Amino acid sequence: MGHPLLDLSDKTAVVIGGTSGIGLALSRGLAQAGANVVPTGRRDEQVRAAAAEVVALGRRSLAETCDVTDNRSIERLLQSACSEFGSVEILVNCAGRTKRMPTLDFPEAEWNAILETNLYGTLRACRVFGRHMIEKHYGRIINIGSLSSFLGLFEVAAYGASKSAVGSLTKTLAIEWATSGVCVNALVPGVLRTNLNAALLDGTERGREFLMRTPMRRFGKIEELAGAAVFLASDAASFVTGHLLVVDGGILASGVNQ
Ligand code: NDP
Repeated sequence: MGHPLLDLSDKTAVVIGGTSGIGLALSRGLAQAGANVVPTGRRDEQVRAAAAEVVALGRRSLAETCDVTDNRSIERLLQSACSEFGSVEILVNCAGRTKRMPTLDFPEAEWNAILETNLYGTLRACRVFGRHMIEKHYGRIINIGSLSSFLGLFEVAAYGASKSAVGSLTKTLAIEWATSGVCVNALVPGVLRTNLNAALLDGTERGREFLMRTPMRRFGKIEELAGAAVFLASDAASFVTGHLLVVDGGILASGVNQ
């Protein structure tokens, strides 16, 4: 038996961006900790496959697509989850996109698309689910930050601006909702190889520099984020809000590594 405060058995979690990479790993982790999990994203086939994974772990799920650029689809998601499970206690905002290009050449449409998904998408979902959680006087929101919430990363200005803003939004919502039983925190992954960044990391100088700067000398595995997410999603985090929990093999702590 695990620690009782970390048990998510009576909880329902919605993981937006939960059909791939980090979000899928977090969906699995929350399900393993006992939660019913609704992993979602824009593509129906991926949503069904992710929901089936939750069911295979012995929990309940629901296959409902969602696009964070569209408020109505987020409202629909909340409604479906509530008709199936009664309420939603946990929200993970993991939908994200990125593009690398020198800032002077970066098309404004692409800049806007990144902000639309990473920042405004997170904001929309926080507002829709946050209102529900405030009504229930209970909620755990986990936004996904990035090393670029803290540091400049070369040629990804739009992504960095979006993720710095996600850090700021997390703190602001945390203090705004602090007396409503809703804890708002961010999980900050270090460098993990996923579909989002494989081309940026595999066999590149950038990949080698990241490894050189990581005291643990390796990329993280997506499963290594699950424990931190379970903690932030649980009753054990009842006095934790506005925190950015970094899981990065030591990058942010490091100065010189040899
Ligand atoms: P993936 O590309 O593997 O997964 C992205 C997920 O988001 C998919 O489920 C995708 O499904 C969904 N998604 C994308 N756009 C939307 C949208 N508009 N509405 C709803 N869902 C959407 O990426 P990662 O797992 O790598 O990244 C997940 C998060 O983690 C991102 O916020 C990223 O910035 C962050 N992160 C990643 C790091 C890494 O090293 N990989 C490091 C730090 C942070 P679909 O396309 O079907 O909509």
